Amino acid sequence: MRTANETLSALGLDASELTGGSLTVTSPIDGAVLAKIAETAVDDMPQILADSQTAFKAWRTVPAPRRGELVRLLGEELRAAKDDLGALVSFEAGKITSEGLGEVQEMIDICDFAVGLSRQLYGLTIASERSGHRMMETWHPMGPVGVISAFNFPVAVWCWNAALALVCGDPVIWKPSEKTPLTAMACAKVFDRALARFGDDAPKGLLQVLIGGADLGEVLVDSPKVPIISATGSTRMGRAVAPRVAARFGRSILELGGNNAMIVAPSADLEMAVRAIVFSAVGTAGQRCTTLRRLIVHQSIKDELVARLVKAYAGLPIGHPLAEGTLIGPLVDAAAGDAMAAALDAAKAQGGTVHGGEKVTENVPAGGVYMRPAIVEMPEQSDIVRHETFAPILYVMTYDHLDDALDMQNNVPQGLSSCIFTMNMREAERFVSDDGSDCGIANVNIGPSGAEIGGAFGGEKETGGGRESGSDAWRSYMRRQTNTLNYSAELPLAQGVSFDI
Ligand code: NAD
Repeated sequence: MRTANETLSALGLDASELTGGSLTVTSPIDGAVLAKIAETAVDDMPQILADSQTAFKAWRTVPAPRRGELVRLLGEELRAAKDDLGALVSFEAGKITSEGLGEVQEMIDICDFAVGLSRQLYGLTIASERSGHRMMETWHPMGPVGVISAFNFPVAVWCWNAALALVCGDPVIWKPSEKTPLTAMACAKVFDRALARFGDDAPKGLLQVLIGGADLGEVLVDSPKVPIISATGSTRMGRAVAPRVAARFGRSILELGGNNAMIVAPSADLEMAVRAIVFSAVGTAGQRCTTLRRLIVHQSIKDELVARLVKAYAGLPIGHPLAEGTLIGPLVDAAAGDAMAAALDAAKAQGGTVHGGEKVTENVPAGGVYMRPAIVEMPEQSDIVRHETFAPILYVMTYDHLDDALDMQNNVPQGLSSCIFTMNMREAERFVSDDGSDCGIANVNIGPSGAEIGGAFGGEKETGGGRESGSDAWRSYMRRQTNTLNYSAELPLAQGVSFDI
């Protein structure tokens, strides 16, 4: 296994870029300092914004399939860098090996998707009410996209945005989480390798990475030179960002907190449900936006299901995320551990019975925050359950009738992901119907976590309403234009209006 330094060097990061700066990057694995890197100065932002605008003017004139070629090369470079970039995700964000690699695979997948998309940025042809006229809808590049990303998907979320933005003709300015800037710097190196193979028609400034905290994000948020802000992170962040972007009539794509539920019906295949619950609730140590946080189980099977889960949880290997066999790595930092402990205290105070949730200190690297995932039996969906705590806590509630389960599932401020386990076709169809789940993602007999890139990803309510990744999410990165072309010798007005002069 390579060390963090060897991994950084294999990805092309030079020692001089990793020392002497003001931002200290530590590993959640053991608290070791990975690097001290230079931060982007707020004073440099006007030039960065200007460079992005210049890049936009050139890039928008490059044909979309040619732009797709750059993304194809990016996908190739990502394939070559997959092992190292995946390992760096583990060092910097604490993910286990297969999840670090999975994140890079997701980047490769969205590149493949975007390459095809670069030949499919279709508009409509619309029947005109006037003879000798034709109407159509065309899609055009929009301008620089500001991507603000969270620590827990330090590379995939950038790529979801960048791959689409680039084929749509938009440059990207990326402000990664201050907790995970090294993976962003590594992505920039991978991108540079794709650019070097691409040729001269890629302008300078197509991708710029900002290293630092919220103050840099705020410059993007407030700048009219950045027409699109794609912001992924907490609802608290979204609440700060959304009104500021709206105040300047910018477009925002918000991917914020989730509080995802699974309904387990009496007919569910419990074996499958247990596997789905454990992966969704404890994978990435409970630090996914789509992590399963609420289990709404029919009262007739609750005791059996909880007993099986408690047993499954007891055997979960917790430890160094890069060690073979580990399924649960560290939380991102001490504050995350404190937030988990505080949530468990609150749950107890609200009538909960807690299984697990202790700090783990044996057979784990010193200096990291390792927590045993918790199952909490709750008498009702109290305040703490309705709040997203970014840690592996699974609250369990019961229901008698599906209507009540659906009400409980929807009665939280967030609206990201949801699912039902049932073998009853009526229940399954109801769940995905107009009066079923109110979330952006609703699954049947699959957990709420681990989406594929082919679908549009995002959620409603306090999750922010944005959609990224597959389906027609690309439209958020372009401006729509309606064109009416008159090939007649007349000038008729619509709606039969006459205005003779
Ligand atoms: P965070 O909100 O603390 O930070 C996210 C990013 O926003 C960082 O880059 C940060 O510097 C920046 N930021 C913070 N305040 C800002 C401001 N006022 N203006 C501009 N930028 C600002 O989130 P985090 O702790 O890194 O990530 C965890 C959260 O992200 C969880 O709530 C999780 O559910 C959410 N998340 C959502 C999705 C999704 O797709 N819905 C995906 C991943 C994570």
